[in-house]
Parts: sequence; C-alpha cells; structure tokens
Amino acid sequence: MVVTWTVAADWSLRTLTLKVPTRVADRLLASSSVLSCERGAEAAPAEAVSEAHPGSLRPGVFDDTAVFDRQPVTLAHLRALRTYSYAADQLYIVFSTSGGAEVLPLQTIEKRVEQGWLGVIVAGASDLPESLLSPWVKEATPASEADEGPHFGHDSARQDDSSGADLGLAGGDQAAVRRVHGERAKEHNLRLLAMARGVPDLRSLDTGRSGVLSVAVWEGLLTPGPLDLTPFRAPSTDRWRRGSGLPLGVLGPVQIYATNADPACEGKGHSPFCRHTRDRGLAQSDDLLSVSDLPVRDDWDWCSKCGGYSARRLTDTQLSYYRAAHRLHDIAGQLDDEHTYRAPVEPEALRKRLDELKAWEPGGHENVNWDGRWRWREVVGDLRRRAESNRLRTAP
Ligand SMILES: [Zn+2]
Repeated sequence: MVVTWTVAADWSLRTLTLKVPTRVADRLLASSSVLSCERGAEAAPAEAVSEAHPGSLRPGVFDDTAVFDRQPVTLAHLRALRTYSYAADQLYIVFSTSGGAEVLPLQTIEKRVEQGWLGVIVAGASDLPESLLSPWVKEATPASEADEGPHFGHDSARQDDSSGADLGLAGGDQAAVRRVHGERAKEHNLRLLAMARGVPDLRSLDTGRSGVLSVAVWEGLLTPGPLDLTPFRAPSTDRWRRGSGLPLGVLGPVQIYATNADPACEGKGHSPFCRHTRDRGLAQSDDLLSVSDLPVRDDWDWCSKCGGYSARRLTDTQLSYYRAAHRLHDIAGQLDDEHTYRAPVEPEALRKRLDELKAWEPGGHENVNWDGRWRWREVVGDLRRRAESNRLRTAP
C-alpha cells in the first residue's frame, strides 16, 4: 500500500517519495511491479509522515504487517487512501468480529466505519498472491467473438462435450478478459473476479457508484443469459416444451439475478446485461432468486430479448450435471423421434451412454448435497427400458 509510506508528493512530476521497509522496496522495485519505481536518497524525512497526516498513516492498516498486528481502519485512513485514489483497490478482504471475513467495496467499508464498524483490512485485490494469480492470468484468454453474446433456448450443439461451456467458471475467466486491452487491465479484471467469486450475495458489490466493477468483471461472475432448464420440466404432451422430469439437484441453489422478479411490480425482468438495462452489471436493487424458485411459479414476466435473468456462473459440478441432464434429455428426444426424422440410434452405443449417465455423481472437492440420485436413476432406468423395447420392435 503505497499510501502508507508516502513522505512527499510532487503532482506536477506525478512523483511520490516513499520511505518503505526493505521487503516492500524489493517488491516495488521488482520488474513485475505495477508502479514504476526508482531507488531514491537513503534518508528521507520520516517525520514528514506524521506531520502531513497526523495519526492517520501508522503502519498496520494498509501495509504488509503480519495479520496478527493489524490495526482497525479509520475514516482518516480511508480518506488518505482516497487522496491517492489510483492506489486504492475497488475490493478489499476485511475482517471484523461482527461479520468475520468478508469482501467489500471501499465505499462500503467507509460507510460502515462512519457507523462505528470496527474491522481491519486484510488484503486488497492487488495483494492477492502471485503464485496463484500469475499462472491463471497467463491461461485466461478471451473467448472468440463467435461465442460472444447471450444465446439460450435450444442448443443444437448440445451433444458436444463443450456444450454449456459459456455458463461455467472457465467461461467466466474468458468473459472477464474479453474486450480488455493490455496485460495489466486483464490482470486487474481477473484479480477483482477472483475476489468477488466467494461473495455470498453479489448485489453487495454494487455501491451505487460507477466503476467498482466493470461490465467485463460482471460478465465473469454471471452467465450471459438464462439457463435452459427444459430437461427439468415435467413430462407433458407439448412436444416443444416437454421436459424429462429430471431433478434440479445440484442446480437448485444456483443464484438467479434479475432486475424484476415480482409480478406485482410493473416491468419485465431483465438480465444485468440486457440492452434495456444499458449493460450496467448488477445493482443493489436487483432481485435475487435461486433456480429452485423458478418451477414454483408460472407467471414470470421475463424480457424476450435477454431471457429475463442471469445466473451465477456454474461451478464445475453444476456444469457437469447441467450437461449430463441435457444429454439425457436429448436421448429421450431421440427415442421419441425414432420413427420420424432422426437417424436410428445404435442400441449398443445408446446403452453405454445411458450407463455412463446413470453413474453421474458430484465430483471433486465441492461438498454438495446430491439429493436427486433416486429420481435421476429412475429416469435413466426408464429410458433404458424404452430403448430396449424399441430395439426388440425394430429388430429384424
Ligand atoms: Zn431484457
């Protein structure tokens, strides 16, 4: 945190003179530093710190002091930080005994401190460890223009293993660096994206002022459009809306954000990226639902341009389940259509695919409650029986 160590500022030359501990100096002088730094005279007047900002810039608030020794942030600290606004991060990890560890925008910290909140700043977005950030930043490449923009509804490439890829976390990495020029801007967006990913309610990141998060970072956090939930609809006679009755399972808790989800409130629901919302990203006034709320009502008034909402990007497990459900739903469609226009399904290959799908389990380190197992297996078993009777019927 540059502001802690500023002893003199020359705005005409856009130069700050700093007196810093060796560890910080090494970091600033390193070629990877975002600031261009030169070694100065050895003995800068250290007392200038306390004269210029009485009591406000003692170590332990914004610097690399051990977390154990951190001091509560005050309004004077935050105002000093704002004076050197380019040094301020948009998001900070803070800790308080009342709220635990949280990620907050600077303006929110300021508002809380005004109301007597007592907490320390643990790290800013620019403090996130290089060991994790560097390899990730190198890997993140913008999605091709063809993938751009929301597309929802029937996805003809659903059989492809990459279907739904624009709904997951990797798709989010790509979105956050799309239309971003320069390595520094790209890294900046990804740091903010990483900070925001653990935030329980993303609306808390909107402070009503522009510039906390750019649209690209919001695109990294949220899906470009709504999810295609057809496989989870109840089976019906309506050929185009017919579902497979699959359980929402791990998709149930996925967050849904819309400008308006209340039928009593005038106006359609839009996604934060709809042209009707001027591509603004999430706002505090938006509505938060979960996927499991969607089948409960049938009076949703979603915008036909954007589909009405964006979902929080799917974790790897959620994405894997979404794909498995769409594959299963497609097989059901193929079995229905077998005598119409589709090519006949090869029975052995079909049986193999159904067995693979039947064994779907949430994988990896995500601790999720997979409560749809029984229903899932029932649907797969039913499809197997239908495939078998089709085979017998058409066998020579
Ligand atoms: Zn819209």
